Amino acid sequence: PWPKIAMGQWFTERARRDGGRQALTFEGRTWTYAEMLADIDRLAGALRAGGIEPGTRVGYLGFNHPMFFVALFACSKIGAIFVPLNFRLAGPEFEYIINDAGVHTLLVDTDHIAVIDSVRDRLHCQRYLCAHGQPADPARWPGAAEAMAAATPVSEAHQPHQDDVAVIMYTSGTTGRPKGAMLTVGNFWWNHVNELVMLDMRPDDVLLTFAPVFHIGALNVLTLTNFLKGAHMVLHRGFDPGLALRDIAAYRVTTIFAVPAMLLFISQHPDFASADTSTVRTVMCGGAPCPEPLLHLLDQRGILVQQGYGLTETAAMATALSSEWATAKIGSVGVSPLLTDVCIMTADGQKVTEPHARGEVCVRGMNVTRGYWNQPEATRNAIDTEHWFRTGDVGYFDEQGFYYICDRVKDMIITGGENVYPAEVESVLFGHPAVAEVAVIGVPDAQWGEAVVAVVALKPGSQLTLDDLRDFATERLARYKVPKQMRLVDALPRNPTGKVLKYKLRET
Ligand code: ATP
Repeated sequence: PWPKIAMGQWFTERARRDGGRQALTFEGRTWTYAEMLADIDRLAGALRAGGIEPGTRVGYLGFNHPMFFVALFACSKIGAIFVPLNFRLAGPEFEYIINDAGVHTLLVDTDHIAVIDSVRDRLHCQRYLCAHGQPADPARWPGAAEAMAAATPVSEAHQPHQDDVAVIMYTSGTTGRPKGAMLTVGNFWWNHVNELVMLDMRPDDVLLTFAPVFHIGALNVLTLTNFLKGAHMVLHRGFDPGLALRDIAAYRVTTIFAVPAMLLFISQHPDFASADTSTVRTVMCGGAPCPEPLLHLLDQRGILVQQGYGLTETAAMATALSSEWATAKIGSVGVSPLLTDVCIMTADGQKVTEPHARGEVCVRGMNVTRGYWNQPEATRNAIDTEHWFRTGDVGYFDEQGFYYICDRVKDMIITGGENVYPAEVESVLFGHPAVAEVAVIGVPDAQWGEAVVAVVALKPGSQLTLDDLRDFATERLARYKVPKQMRLVDALPRNPTGKVLKYKLRET
């Protein structure tokens, strides 16, 4: 018999053994594992009755909600491919992704029905369901709840091969047109194993999830593995720093996944100083470079932040810093998990052997994507014949083998022949107490090739001038790294996972 590694299989086993345990809390309501499984089995039945077979694509568009997880597990249960959609996209972007993935059935929450309706006559889907809530036009958008009530539940899970695609996740597109990374049953499973070996996860954990779960970080760093452990998750519809602080205390939260921007907004919230965060054991932070001053600030407060590094294509974790090293190696993204290899490669494909030498970070392992949906050429460009996946990030390792991410290859600025990594300059500027947010970009410059430009948002009421900030940078950075130009803005443009949309800054 095959091992039961697909999520629909292990969730079923978990619920059969620990049915009465709390699985998920959302807006004051809690589902046990058994209650979640009952919903999963009914939705699996409703999807199957509507024509979904192994390999058929099912899309999901909506804010964080328990139904997202019910749909994900239900798809796995019948071997369908789950396609989570980024709810911030515009109509034509949805049209591109939904048709590219060949979505058969599309589940949409009531908040996003209007945007789908704006392109619906150009979509090739065969079935539309309102994921939860009351649709205004139930004839056009029948409710999933009604379909589930009428369905015959699926109790036996489909047995897939570990190379079968479980999820197609479109990269967030902070750099270009989205590509659908095919994540297999095995990719998810081996990421769980990596996490269980590397991170301190316990069955009595209470995980707080507020980052958008259509994104690999929020979905697969801690979250799914938390269910595998039989632990409890408190899910927020979206990120609200005040609510996060309140629920950390109310539910005695022990673990959190956050992107750096979320930690930043939590640390700047007026309730931060008085909030009870004493139960929090681990904060996994990844998805973007985390400024070191922020890590120190949280460390002083007794909040241990473990940095992790990964991409959609690595089904989340490519490296992580274990808790015993979190303070000693602050700023590092740690080492690769047990079952995954990471190396630094030169532009001509040679492995770097010297510490501190910079090159492209490459990842190889059972958690790495099979490639991009319908894009064999992009797949060949990203994954070499020895199975190394090229991440597009510049990094290095130190004498003890700990990895550091400098920045993306494509964000690196070359000014007067010198390489400048925006994340390093951002970290220095962010060290100024008056700076709330900062992004550094390169803009074309006749004299230097590219010029370093900083876009800065100041804390409310700050009197800091840009000249003062430039002096601050000049004292701490080599001259060629000091921004030639600084711009003030009220806030930085960010995607839903909190990443700064640098292409938008370059356009202005
Ligand atoms: P696109 O691939 O379309 O540009 P994206 O880069 O936002 O979108 P993701 O897979 O969500 O796609 O993000 C992966 C990227 O996030 C990495 O390539 C890296 O640049 C960045 N990243 C993730 N974790 C870290 C970290 N701990 N430190 C620095 N950068 C990180």
